[in-house]
Amino acid sequence: MTVTSWGMVTMARWTAILKAAGIRATTQRLRVLDVLAAHPLPISAQRIHTVLQDSGENVGLTTVYRTLSSMAEVGLIHVFTHAGESVYRLCGPARHHHLVCRVCGLVAERQEEDIVDGFRAEEVYGVCAACEKR
Ligand SMILES: [Zn+2]
Ligand SMILES: [Zn+2]
Repeated sequence: MTVTSWGMVTMARWTAILKAAGIRATTQRLRVLDVLAAHPLPISAQRIHTVLQDSGENVGLTTVYRTLSSMAEVGLIHVFTHAGESVYRLCGPARHHHLVCRVCGLVAERQEEDIVDGFRAEEVYGVCAACEKR
C-alpha cells in the first residue's frame, strides 16, 4: 500500500481521533489504526506487523508494539488476551464493557452497565452465536 491509497477522509478522521485522545498523529500510528479499523476481531501486534509488511509498509515490530501501547494507554484501543497472547481492538468511543467469545475471540461492546452485587462488569466471557452453532 502506498501513501496515495490513503484517502484524505480516512487520514483526517484518524488524525482528529488521535488528537482528541491527546496523542500525536504520526504516520505509523495512523497505519496501525487503519489496520485495526479493518479488523473487528482483536488482532495481535505480530499480525498487525504482518499485515503492514504485506502491504509494503516498512514498520518494525517494536514500533507496532510501542504504537499499540501508547494508544491503549489513553484508552483509544482495548487490549484482550486470546489463546495466551495480547490482542488489540479499536472500540467505539462510548463507555462500554465487553462480551468476549472464548472460542474465536470476538468482542461485542455493551453500553448498559452490568452491575451485580456492587461489581461492575468489565469483561464477560461466553460463546458467540456463530461458535455456538458449530
Ligand atoms: Zn472496548
Ligand atoms: Zn465465537
